[in-house]
Amino acid sequence: MKFPSAGDIASTQVVSININEPISKAIDMMIVSDHRDIIVQDYDLFYVLTAIEVLKLRESSIKLIDPISHLTLKRTPAVKKDTNVLNLLRFLDELTEYICVINEDRTIYGLITHTDITSNIDPEIIMDNYTIEDFLRLTRRVRWINKEMSTSDVLSHMYTGENDSVIIVEEQKPIGILTTKDVVQLIKHNADLDLPIKAYMNSPVESIHKRTSIREALEFVKAKHYKRLIVVDDEGRLSGIITQKELILLTYNRWALVMKEHQEELQEINSILKAQNQEYELLASIDPLTKLYNRYKFKQLFNSSLETMLQRAGVMSLVLLDIDFFKKVNDQYGHNVGDDVLQKISELLKNETREVDIVCRWGGEEFTILFPTVDLEQACTIAEKIRGKIEQLEIDKVGHVTASFGVAEVSGKVFLEDVVAKADDALYKAKSSGRNKVMW
Ligand code: GH3
Ligand code: MG
Ligand code: MG
Repeated sequence: MKFPSAGDIASTQVVSININEPISKAIDMMIVSDHRDIIVQDYDLFYVLTAIEVLKLRESSIKLIDPISHLTLKRTPAVKKDTNVLNLLRFLDELTEYICVINEDRTIYGLITHTDITSNIDPEIIMDNYTIEDFLRLTRRVRWINKEMSTSDVLSHMYTGENDSVIIVEEQKPIGILTTKDVVQLIKHNADLDLPIKAYMNSPVESIHKRTSIREALEFVKAKHYKRLIVVDDEGRLSGIITQKELILLTYNRWALVMKEHQEELQEINSILKAQNQEYELLASIDPLTKLYNRYKFKQLFNSSLETMLQRAGVMSLVLLDIDFFKKVNDQYGHNVGDDVLQKISELLKNETREVDIVCRWGGEEFTILFPTVDLEQACTIAEKIRGKIEQLEIDKVGHVTASFGVAEVSGKVFLEDVVAKADDALYKAKSSGRNKVMW
Protein backbone atom coordinates (compact mmCIF):
# COMPACT_ATOMS: atom_id res chain seq x y z
CA MET A 1 0.00 0.00 0.00
CA LYS A 2 1.17 3.45 -0.80
CA PHE A 3 -0.93 6.38 -1.82
CA PRO A 4 -4.15 5.61 -3.68
CA SER A 5 -4.16 5.37 -7.44
CA ALA A 6 -6.12 7.50 -9.89
CA GLY A 7 -8.61 4.64 -10.22
CA ASP A 8 -9.14 4.54 -6.45
CA ILE A 9 -10.18 8.15 -6.16
CA ALA A 10 -11.98 8.66 -9.47
CA SER A 11 -15.68 9.15 -9.62
CA THR A 12 -17.02 6.66 -12.12
CA GLN A 13 -20.24 8.48 -12.85
CA VAL A 14 -19.01 9.96 -16.08
CA VAL A 15 -21.04 10.82 -19.09
CA SER A 16 -19.04 10.69 -22.27
CA ILE A 17 -19.77 11.05 -25.96
CA ASN A 18 -17.87 10.69 -29.20
CA ILE A 19 -16.74 13.92 -30.85
CA ASN A 20 -18.54 13.04 -34.10
CA GLU A 21 -21.96 12.84 -32.47
CA PRO A 22 -24.29 15.82 -32.97
CA ILE A 23 -24.34 18.59 -30.38
CA SER A 24 -28.04 17.96 -29.78
CA LYS A 25 -27.23 14.46 -28.50
CA ALA A 26 -24.71 15.89 -26.04
CA ILE A 27 -27.33 18.30 -24.75
CA ASP A 28 -29.83 15.47 -24.32
CA MET A 29 -27.25 13.51 -22.35
CA MET A 30 -26.56 16.52 -20.13
CA ILE A 31 -30.25 16.81 -19.36
CA VAL A 32 -30.87 13.12 -18.78
CA SER A 33 -27.82 12.62 -16.59
CA ASP A 34 -28.18 16.00 -14.86
CA HIS A 35 -24.46 16.67 -15.45
CA ARG A 36 -23.32 20.18 -16.28
CA ASP A 37 -20.14 18.92 -17.97
CA ILE A 38 -19.65 15.92 -20.18
CA ILE A 39 -16.53 14.31 -21.56
CA VAL A 40 -15.99 14.28 -25.29
CA GLN A 41 -13.73 11.61 -26.71
CA ASP A 42 -11.80 11.89 -29.94
CA TYR A 43 -9.81 8.64 -30.30
CA ASP A 44 -7.28 9.05 -27.55
CA LEU A 45 -7.90 12.70 -26.82
CA PHE A 46 -10.41 13.90 -24.25
CA TYR A 47 -12.23 17.20 -23.95
CA VAL A 48 -14.83 18.70 -21.65
CA LEU A 49 -18.04 20.10 -23.03
CA THR A 50 -19.51 22.46 -20.47
CA ALA A 51 -22.99 23.84 -20.15
CA ILE A 52 -21.50 27.31 -20.73
CA GLU A 53 -20.26 26.20 -24.15
CA VAL A 54 -23.80 25.14 -24.98
CA LEU A 55 -25.12 28.52 -23.90
CA LYS A 56 -22.61 30.28 -26.13
CA LEU A 57 -24.05 28.41 -29.10
CA ARG A 58 -26.90 30.88 -29.22
CA GLU A 59 -24.51 33.58 -30.40
CA SER A 60 -22.74 31.45 -32.97
CA SER A 61 -23.59 30.05 -36.37
CA ILE A 62 -23.08 26.47 -35.22
CA LYS A 63 -26.24 24.40 -35.33
CA LEU A 64 -27.44 21.72 -32.97
CA ILE A 65 -27.25 19.09 -35.68
CA ASP A 66 -23.57 19.83 -36.27
CA PRO A 67 -21.03 17.41 -34.80
CA ILE A 68 -19.45 18.30 -31.48
CA SER A 69 -16.10 18.64 -33.28
CA HIS A 70 -17.31 22.02 -34.60
CA LEU A 71 -17.06 23.48 -31.12
CA THR A 72 -13.87 24.73 -29.49
CA LEU A 73 -13.46 22.52 -26.49
CA LYS A 74 -11.05 22.47 -23.59
CA ARG A 75 -8.59 19.57 -23.68
CA THR A 76 -8.44 17.55 -20.53
CA PRO A 77 -5.49 15.38 -19.53
CA ALA A 78 -5.90 11.61 -19.32
CA VAL A 79 -4.08 9.24 -16.99
CA LYS A 80 -4.14 5.48 -16.53
CA LYS A 81 -6.05 3.96 -13.63
CA ASP A 82 -2.96 2.79 -11.77
CA THR A 83 -1.26 6.21 -11.72
CA ASN A 84 -0.22 7.06 -8.18
CA VAL A 85 -2.04 10.08 -6.80
CA LEU A 86 1.29 11.81 -6.15
CA ASN A 87 1.96 11.79 -9.87
CA LEU A 88 -1.24 13.71 -10.44
CA LEU A 89 0.07 16.71 -8.57
CA ARG A 90 1.56 18.23 -11.67
CA PHE A 91 -1.96 18.70 -13.02
CA LEU A 92 -2.90 20.99 -10.17
CA ASP A 93 -1.37 24.00 -11.86
CA GLU A 94 -3.36 23.47 -15.04
CA LEU A 95 -6.58 25.32 -15.56
CA THR A 96 -8.63 22.29 -16.56
CA GLU A 97 -10.71 21.22 -13.65
CA TYR A 98 -10.83 17.56 -14.60
CA ILE A 99 -8.48 14.72 -15.29
CA CYS A 100 -9.81 11.73 -17.17
CA VAL A 101 -8.96 8.33 -15.80
CA ILE A 102 -8.75 5.74 -18.53
CA ASN A 103 -8.65 1.96 -18.75
CA GLU A 104 -5.86 0.03 -20.46
CA ASP A 105 -7.87 0.04 -23.71
CA ARG A 106 -8.21 3.85 -23.49
CA THR A 107 -11.91 3.72 -22.74
CA ILE A 108 -12.94 6.13 -20.05
CA TYR A 109 -13.07 4.82 -16.50
CA GLY A 110 -13.75 7.90 -14.41
CA LEU A 111 -13.02 11.53 -13.60
CA ILE A 112 -10.89 13.24 -10.99
CA THR A 113 -11.15 16.83 -9.87
CA HIS A 114 -8.39 18.91 -8.28
CA THR A 115 -10.05 18.56 -4.91
CA ASP A 116 -10.01 14.77 -5.22
CA ILE A 117 -6.23 14.94 -5.58
CA THR A 118 -5.45 17.26 -2.73
CA SER A 119 -7.80 15.56 -0.32
CA ASN A 120 -6.05 12.24 -0.95
CA ILE A 121 -2.56 13.32 0.04
CA ASP A 122 -3.52 13.64 3.65
CA PRO A 123 -1.15 11.98 6.17
CA GLU A 124 -4.13 10.23 7.67
CA ILE A 125 -4.41 8.26 4.47
CA ILE A 126 -2.15 5.67 6.10
CA MET A 127 -4.77 4.95 8.69
CA ASP A 128 -7.37 4.33 6.04
CA ASN A 129 -5.24 2.31 3.70
CA TYR A 130 -3.41 -0.01 6.05
CA THR A 131 -5.17 -2.81 7.89
CA ILE A 132 -4.25 -4.45 11.16
CA GLU A 133 -2.96 -7.40 9.15
CA ASP A 134 -0.19 -5.22 7.68
CA PHE A 135 1.06 -4.45 11.15
CA LEU A 136 0.37 -7.73 12.88
CA ARG A 137 3.38 -9.43 11.35
CA LEU A 138 5.61 -6.85 12.92
CA THR A 139 4.40 -7.37 16.45
CA ARG A 140 5.29 -10.09 18.88
CA ARG A 141 3.58 -13.45 18.58
CA VAL A 142 0.60 -14.28 20.68
CA ARG A 143 0.48 -17.10 23.25
CA TRP A 144 -2.09 -19.74 22.44
CA ILE A 145 -3.56 -21.17 25.58
CA ASN A 146 -6.05 -24.01 25.55
CA LYS A 147 -9.01 -23.51 27.86
CA GLU A 148 -8.27 -26.80 29.66
CA MET A 149 -4.72 -25.79 30.64
CA SER A 150 -4.31 -25.53 34.40
CA THR A 151 -4.21 -22.04 35.81
CA SER A 152 -0.80 -22.58 37.38
CA ASP A 153 0.65 -23.61 33.99
CA VAL A 154 -0.83 -20.51 32.40
CA LEU A 155 0.72 -18.32 35.05
CA SER A 156 4.15 -19.84 34.54
CA HIS A 157 3.76 -19.33 30.79
CA MET A 158 3.02 -15.72 31.43
CA TYR A 159 5.96 -15.47 33.74
CA THR A 160 8.51 -17.08 31.42
CA GLY A 161 7.20 -15.45 28.25
CA GLU A 162 6.92 -12.07 29.94
CA ASN A 163 3.50 -11.68 28.44
CA ASP A 164 1.21 -9.21 30.11
CA SER A 165 -1.77 -11.12 28.75
CA VAL A 166 -2.70 -14.46 27.26
CA ILE A 167 -5.54 -15.38 24.96
CA ILE A 168 -7.42 -18.56 25.68
CA VAL A 169 -8.62 -20.44 22.61
CA GLU A 170 -10.94 -23.28 21.74
CA GLU A 171 -10.42 -24.78 18.30
CA GLN A 172 -8.13 -21.83 17.58
CA LYS A 173 -10.92 -19.34 18.26
CA PRO A 174 -10.40 -16.80 21.04
CA ILE A 175 -12.84 -17.37 23.90
CA GLY A 176 -11.18 -15.60 26.81
CA ILE A 177 -8.34 -13.43 28.01
CA LEU A 178 -6.24 -13.28 31.15
CA THR A 179 -4.15 -10.21 31.93
CA THR A 180 -1.58 -9.52 34.63
CA LYS A 181 -4.26 -7.48 36.38
CA ASP A 182 -6.39 -10.65 36.69
CA VAL A 183 -3.39 -12.55 38.05
CA VAL A 184 -3.12 -10.12 40.95
CA GLN A 185 -6.80 -10.77 41.77
CA LEU A 186 -6.30 -14.55 41.63
CA ILE A 187 -3.49 -14.38 44.13
CA LYS A 188 -5.32 -11.98 46.38
CA HIS A 189 -8.35 -14.29 46.55
CA ASN A 190 -6.23 -17.34 46.99
CA ALA A 191 -7.67 -19.03 43.90
CA ASP A 192 -7.26 -22.76 43.28
CA LEU A 193 -4.55 -22.78 40.63
CA ASP A 194 -5.13 -26.42 39.75
CA LEU A 195 -8.42 -25.54 38.11
CA PRO A 196 -8.34 -25.10 34.32
CA ILE A 197 -7.92 -21.53 33.11
CA LYS A 198 -11.48 -21.50 31.72
CA ALA A 199 -12.61 -21.09 35.33
CA TYR A 200 -10.88 -17.75 35.72
CA MET A 201 -10.54 -16.22 32.27
CA ASN A 202 -12.50 -13.14 31.26
CA SER A 203 -15.04 -14.32 28.79
CA PRO A 204 -16.34 -13.79 26.19
CA VAL A 205 -13.80 -11.61 24.39
CA GLU A 206 -14.48 -9.14 21.68
CA SER A 207 -12.32 -9.50 18.63
CA ILE A 208 -11.75 -7.55 15.45
CA HIS A 209 -11.17 -8.77 11.90
CA LYS A 210 -7.59 -8.60 10.60
CA ARG A 211 -8.59 -6.59 7.54
CA THR A 212 -10.07 -3.74 9.57
CA SER A 213 -8.42 -0.43 8.73
CA ILE A 214 -6.08 1.09 11.30
CA ARG A 215 -8.43 4.01 11.66
CA GLU A 216 -11.42 1.80 12.50
CA ALA A 217 -9.29 -0.29 14.84
CA LEU A 218 -8.16 2.81 16.73
CA GLU A 219 -11.72 4.06 16.92
CA PHE A 220 -12.77 0.67 18.25
CA VAL A 221 -10.22 0.59 21.08
CA LYS A 222 -11.02 4.17 21.94
CA ALA A 223 -14.76 3.56 22.14
CA LYS A 224 -14.38 0.36 24.17
CA HIS A 225 -11.50 1.55 26.35
CA TYR A 226 -9.58 -1.62 25.47
CA LYS A 227 -5.81 -1.58 25.74
CA ARG A 228 -5.35 -4.35 23.23
CA LEU A 229 -7.10 -5.82 20.22
CA ILE A 230 -7.68 -9.49 19.64
CA VAL A 231 -7.44 -10.01 15.93
CA VAL A 232 -9.13 -12.86 14.06
CA ASP A 233 -9.11 -14.17 10.49
CA ASP A 234 -12.01 -14.98 8.15
CA GLU A 235 -12.79 -18.16 10.09
CA GLY A 236 -12.75 -16.40 13.42
CA ARG A 237 -9.40 -17.98 14.37
CA LEU A 238 -6.93 -16.01 16.43
CA SER A 239 -4.49 -14.12 14.21
CA GLY A 240 -2.73 -12.08 16.84
CA ILE A 241 -2.93 -9.42 19.43
CA ILE A 242 -1.95 -5.79 19.14
CA THR A 243 -2.02 -2.98 21.65
CA GLN A 244 -3.30 0.53 21.07
CA LYS A 245 0.19 1.88 21.65
CA GLU A 246 1.64 -0.44 19.02
CA LEU A 247 -1.01 0.60 16.53
CA ILE A 248 -0.22 4.27 16.92
CA LEU A 249 3.54 3.80 16.90
CA LEU A 250 3.44 1.55 13.86
CA THR A 251 1.18 3.98 12.02
CA TYR A 252 3.56 6.87 12.56
CA ASN A 253 6.62 4.77 11.74
CA ARG A 254 4.97 3.70 8.52
CA TRP A 255 4.00 7.25 7.72
CA ALA A 256 7.60 8.37 8.22
CA LEU A 257 8.75 5.57 5.94
CA VAL A 258 6.28 6.44 3.18
CA MET A 259 7.23 10.08 3.46
CA LYS A 260 10.89 9.17 3.06
CA GLU A 261 10.13 7.08 0.00
CA HIS A 262 8.27 10.02 -1.48
CA GLN A 263 10.75 12.74 -0.61
CA GLU A 264 11.04 13.75 -4.22
CA GLU A 265 7.34 13.90 -4.88
CA LEU A 266 6.82 15.91 -1.71
CA GLN A 267 9.43 18.41 -2.75
CA GLU A 268 7.61 18.64 -6.02
CA ILE A 269 4.31 19.29 -4.25
CA ASN A 270 6.03 22.00 -2.32
CA SER A 271 7.41 23.77 -5.35
CA ILE A 272 4.10 23.45 -7.21
CA LEU A 273 2.24 24.98 -4.31
CA LYS A 274 4.82 27.70 -3.92
CA ALA A 275 4.69 28.63 -7.59
CA GLN A 276 0.93 28.63 -7.45
CA ASN A 277 0.89 30.92 -4.45
CA GLN A 278 3.22 33.33 -6.16
CA GLU A 279 0.98 33.30 -9.19
CA TYR A 280 -2.11 34.01 -7.10
CA GLU A 281 -0.30 36.79 -5.28
CA LEU A 282 0.65 38.31 -8.61
CA LEU A 283 -2.86 37.95 -9.99
CA ALA A 284 -4.19 39.71 -6.94
CA SER A 285 -1.80 42.63 -7.29
CA ILE A 286 -1.17 43.27 -10.98
CA ASP A 287 -3.49 44.74 -13.56
CA PRO A 288 -3.39 42.28 -16.46
CA LEU A 289 -3.62 44.85 -19.28
CA THR A 290 -1.00 47.34 -18.17
CA LYS A 291 1.04 45.14 -15.80
CA LEU A 292 0.96 47.99 -13.33
CA TYR A 293 -0.08 47.49 -9.72
CA ASN A 294 -3.82 47.41 -9.20
CA ARG A 295 -5.69 49.51 -6.69
CA TYR A 296 -5.66 46.75 -4.06
CA LYS A 297 -1.87 46.43 -4.14
CA PHE A 298 -1.41 50.19 -4.34
CA LYS A 299 -3.28 50.58 -1.10
CA GLN A 300 -0.97 48.09 0.62
CA LEU A 301 2.12 49.82 -0.74
CA PHE A 302 0.75 53.25 0.16
CA ASN A 303 0.22 52.16 3.75
CA SER A 304 3.70 50.71 4.15
CA SER A 305 5.24 53.83 2.55
CA LEU A 306 3.19 55.95 4.91
CA GLU A 307 4.58 54.08 7.90
CA THR A 308 8.16 54.64 6.76
CA MET A 309 7.37 58.28 6.07
CA LEU A 310 5.91 58.77 9.56
CA GLN A 311 8.97 57.16 11.18
CA ARG A 312 11.22 59.58 9.35
CA ALA A 313 8.89 62.55 9.78
CA GLY A 314 9.04 63.09 6.03
CA VAL A 315 6.54 63.81 3.26
CA MET A 316 5.42 62.14 0.08
CA SER A 317 3.20 63.05 -2.86
CA LEU A 318 0.49 61.42 -4.86
CA VAL A 319 -0.30 62.19 -8.48
CA LEU A 320 -3.61 61.22 -10.07
CA LEU A 321 -3.78 61.43 -13.84
CA ASP A 322 -6.58 60.84 -16.29
CA ILE A 323 -6.28 60.59 -20.07
CA ASP A 324 -8.15 63.36 -21.84
CA PHE A 325 -11.09 62.53 -24.12
CA PHE A 326 -10.27 58.87 -23.94
CA LYS A 327 -13.80 57.91 -24.85
CA LYS A 328 -13.19 59.48 -28.23
CA VAL A 329 -10.18 57.23 -28.81
CA ASN A 330 -12.33 54.17 -28.18
CA ASP A 331 -15.20 55.49 -30.27
CA GLN A 332 -12.99 56.44 -33.17
CA TYR A 333 -10.49 53.54 -33.27
CA GLY A 334 -12.12 50.78 -31.28
CA HIS A 335 -11.50 49.27 -27.90
CA ASN A 336 -8.35 47.36 -28.91
CA VAL A 337 -6.60 50.54 -29.97
CA GLY A 338 -7.83 52.10 -26.73
CA ASP A 339 -6.12 49.24 -24.88
CA ASP A 340 -2.89 49.88 -26.82
CA VAL A 341 -2.96 53.51 -25.70
CA LEU A 342 -3.38 52.44 -22.08
CA GLN A 343 -0.38 50.13 -22.43
CA LYS A 344 1.78 52.80 -24.08
CA ILE A 345 0.95 55.36 -21.39
CA SER A 346 1.66 52.75 -18.69
CA GLU A 347 5.08 52.03 -20.18
CA LEU A 348 5.83 55.73 -20.30
CA LEU A 349 4.82 56.17 -16.66
CA LYS A 350 7.14 53.31 -15.63
CA ASN A 351 10.00 54.71 -17.69
CA GLU A 352 9.62 58.26 -16.41
CA THR A 353 9.55 57.31 -12.73
CA ARG A 354 12.15 55.93 -10.34
CA GLU A 355 12.29 52.38 -9.03
CA VAL A 356 10.98 53.58 -5.67
CA ASP A 357 7.95 55.35 -7.13
CA ILE A 358 4.78 53.30 -7.17
CA VAL A 359 2.73 53.39 -10.37
CA CYS A 360 -0.79 52.01 -10.36
CA ARG A 361 -3.70 51.67 -12.72
CA TRP A 362 -6.32 53.20 -10.49
CA GLY A 363 -9.12 52.21 -12.85
CA GLY A 364 -10.20 52.72 -16.48
CA GLU A 365 -7.90 55.40 -17.92
CA GLU A 366 -6.84 56.78 -14.56
CA PHE A 367 -3.47 56.23 -12.95
CA THR A 368 -1.96 57.05 -9.58
CA ILE A 369 1.73 57.50 -8.81
CA LEU A 370 3.10 57.65 -5.31
CA PHE A 371 6.37 59.53 -4.93
CA PRO A 372 7.98 58.72 -1.58
CA THR A 373 10.16 61.51 -0.04
CA VAL A 374 8.91 64.01 -2.65
CA ASP A 375 7.13 67.22 -1.63
CA LEU A 376 4.30 69.00 -3.46
CA GLU A 377 6.51 71.33 -5.45
CA GLN A 378 8.86 68.59 -6.64
CA ALA A 379 5.88 66.34 -7.46
CA CYS A 380 4.35 69.07 -9.61
CA THR A 381 7.63 69.42 -11.48
CA ILE A 382 7.79 65.67 -12.13
CA ALA A 383 4.11 65.62 -13.15
CA GLU A 384 4.72 68.47 -15.53
CA LYS A 385 7.63 66.58 -17.11
CA ILE A 386 5.45 63.47 -17.52
CA ARG A 387 2.62 65.55 -18.96
CA GLY A 388 5.01 66.87 -21.59
CA LYS A 389 6.26 63.36 -22.45
CA ILE A 390 2.72 62.04 -22.88
CA GLU A 391 1.84 64.95 -25.13
CA GLN A 392 4.84 64.16 -27.32
CA LEU A 393 4.34 60.40 -27.34
CA GLU A 394 3.74 59.07 -30.85
CA ILE A 395 1.07 56.37 -30.72
CA ASP A 396 0.25 54.08 -33.67
CA LYS A 397 -3.03 54.98 -35.44
CA VAL A 398 -4.05 57.46 -32.74
CA GLY A 399 -1.21 59.96 -33.06
CA HIS A 400 -1.16 61.90 -29.78
CA VAL A 401 -3.12 61.96 -26.56
CA THR A 402 -2.92 64.23 -23.54
CA ALA A 403 -3.60 63.75 -19.86
CA SER A 404 -4.63 65.91 -16.94
CA PHE A 405 -2.97 65.76 -13.53
CA GLY A 406 -3.97 66.40 -9.95
CA VAL A 407 -1.26 66.46 -7.27
CA ALA A 408 -1.64 66.11 -3.49
CA GLU A 409 0.99 66.11 -0.76
CA VAL A 410 0.87 63.57 2.03
CA SER A 411 2.01 64.62 5.47
CA GLY A 412 1.00 63.12 8.78
CA LYS A 413 -1.28 60.14 9.29
CA VAL A 414 -3.93 60.06 6.55
CA PHE A 415 -6.10 57.61 4.66
CA LEU A 416 -5.35 56.89 1.03
CA GLU A 417 -8.98 57.68 0.16
CA ASP A 418 -8.59 61.21 1.52
CA VAL A 419 -5.37 61.81 -0.38
CA VAL A 420 -6.93 60.56 -3.62
CA ALA A 421 -9.98 62.77 -3.05
CA LYS A 422 -7.67 65.76 -2.69
CA ALA A 423 -5.79 64.84 -5.88
CA ASP A 424 -9.13 64.28 -7.61
CA ASP A 425 -10.25 67.81 -6.75
CA ALA A 426 -7.04 69.13 -8.31
CA LEU A 427 -7.55 66.89 -11.34
CA TYR A 428 -11.07 68.28 -11.74
CA LYS A 429 -9.60 71.78 -11.80
CA ALA A 430 -7.14 70.68 -14.52
CA LYS A 431 -9.98 69.19 -16.57
CA SER A 432 -12.32 72.14 -16.20
CA SER A 433 -9.63 74.68 -17.04
CA GLY A 434 -8.84 73.17 -20.42
CA ARG A 435 -7.17 69.72 -19.77
CA ASN A 436 -3.53 68.72 -20.48
CA LYS A 437 -2.53 70.48 -17.27
CA VAL A 438 -1.04 69.82 -13.85
CA MET A 439 -2.96 71.26 -10.90
CA TRP A 440 -2.68 70.85 -7.10
P1 GH3 B 1 -12.13 63.27 -19.89
O1 GH3 B 1 -11.15 64.08 -20.66
O2 GH3 B 1 -13.15 64.12 -19.22
O3 GH3 B 1 -11.45 62.36 -18.95
O4 GH3 B 1 -12.91 62.41 -20.95
P2 GH3 B 1 -12.82 60.86 -21.14
O5 GH3 B 1 -13.52 60.50 -22.38
O6 GH3 B 1 -11.43 60.39 -21.02
O7 GH3 B 1 -13.53 60.39 -19.81
P3 GH3 B 1 -14.59 59.30 -19.46
O8 GH3 B 1 -14.39 58.95 -18.04
O9 GH3 B 1 -15.96 59.77 -19.84
O10 GH3 B 1 -14.24 58.05 -20.33
C1 GH3 B 1 -13.29 57.13 -19.97
C2 GH3 B 1 -13.38 56.02 -20.96
O11 GH3 B 1 -12.37 55.04 -20.74
C3 GH3 B 1 -14.68 55.27 -20.92
C4 GH3 B 1 -14.32 53.84 -21.01
O12 GH3 B 1 -14.98 53.18 -22.05
C5 GH3 B 1 -12.83 53.86 -21.29
N1 GH3 B 1 -12.14 52.75 -20.68
C6 GH3 B 1 -12.11 52.39 -19.40
N2 GH3 B 1 -11.36 51.30 -19.23
C7 GH3 B 1 -10.90 50.91 -20.44
C8 GH3 B 1 -10.09 49.85 -20.93
O13 GH3 B 1 -9.62 48.97 -20.19
N3 GH3 B 1 -9.83 49.78 -22.24
C9 GH3 B 1 -10.34 50.70 -23.11
N4 GH3 B 1 -10.06 50.59 -24.38
N5 GH3 B 1 -11.12 51.71 -22.68
C10 GH3 B 1 -11.40 51.83 -21.38
MG1 MG C 1 -11.83 59.06 -16.24
MG1 MG D 1 -10.48 60.66 -19.21
